[in-house]
Amino acid sequence: MAVSGTTSGPRYKRILLKLSGEALMGKGGYGIDIGVCQALAADIKQAVDTGVEVAVVIGGGNIFRGLAGAAKGMDRAAADYMGMLATVMNALAFQNALEQAEVDARVMSAIPMPTVCESYVRSKALHHLQEGRVVIFAAGTGNPFFTTDTTAALRAIETECEVLAKATQVDGVYSADPKKDPNAKRYDRLSYDEVLTRNLKVMDGAAIALARDNDLPVIVFSIEESGNLLKMLRGEARSTLVTTSP
Ligand code: UDP
Repeated sequence: MAVSGTTSGPRYKRILLKLSGEALMGKGGYGIDIGVCQALAADIKQAVDTGVEVAVVIGGGNIFRGLAGAAKGMDRAAADYMGMLATVMNALAFQNALEQAEVDARVMSAIPMPTVCESYVRSKALHHLQEGRVVIFAAGTGNPFFTTDTTAALRAIETECEVLAKATQVDGVYSADPKKDPNAKRYDRLSYDEVLTRNLKVMDGAAIALARDNDLPVIVFSIEESGNLLKMLRGEARSTLVTTSP
C-alpha cells in the first residue's frame, strides 16, 4: 500500500495518528485549547491534501484519567469509563476543528452514543477512510483497564494502517527524559523487544506487544512544530522508528 517514494511524496497511504489528550491542552494545564486543535487540524489537512488517509485516536488525559480517579478512591472501572467519555469530548472538539479547516471528518465511538456521533463499525470506518475522510476513534477500546495507546495499535491494525504515528512533544524516543537529562540519547530505530525490555517510554506495554505481534511499525515524532506531520510522512522529520529488527 506504500506510495512509491519520490523524495517529496508521502511514504504511506494510510496512517493512524495517536494524539494524547495533553496535546490538545496547550499551555492551559487542563482541558481543550481550541487554537491548538486548529493548529493540529491544519497539520492533518496538509497530509490529507497529499492523498494520505488519516485515522486518529485521541486520549483523554487533559480531562480525566482512570488511574487518577482510582488513586483517589474511585472504583477503577467507573473511573475508566469517565476517562473514555473524556476522549469523546476531545474527539468532538477535534472534529469541529477539522471541519472548520474544510477536512471531512467523522467521530466513531466504541461506546455507542447515537445522538452524538457514529458508533465504531470497522467496515464503515474503512469506507470513510477510502472516501478520504479523517476518522477519529473515540471512547478508547470501550473497555476499562486499557489505554488509548492500546486503542491506537488495535484500530491501526483493524483498519489496515501502514504505520502508527505517535505524536509527542519530543522528536523521538530517548534513553531518559531529554527535558531533564542533557545526556539522554535519542534513538533513530528500536525493536519492539528493546522498547519492552528496557521499559522505554514510547507507549504502554500492551500497545507495543500488540504492534509487535501484528508487525505494525510505530513512528514516534514531535507534533510541536507545525508542518512536522507532513515532514514525518515524507521521511524528513527527526523521529524514532520501532519495528521488529532495528
Ligand atoms: N480508557 C479506558 N479504556 C480504553 C482507553 C482509555 O478505560 O480503551 C480510559 C482510561 O481511564 C484512560 C483514559 O481513558 O486513563 C484516557 O485515556 P489515556 O490515559 O490513554 O489518554 P492520554 O494519556 O493519551 O491522554
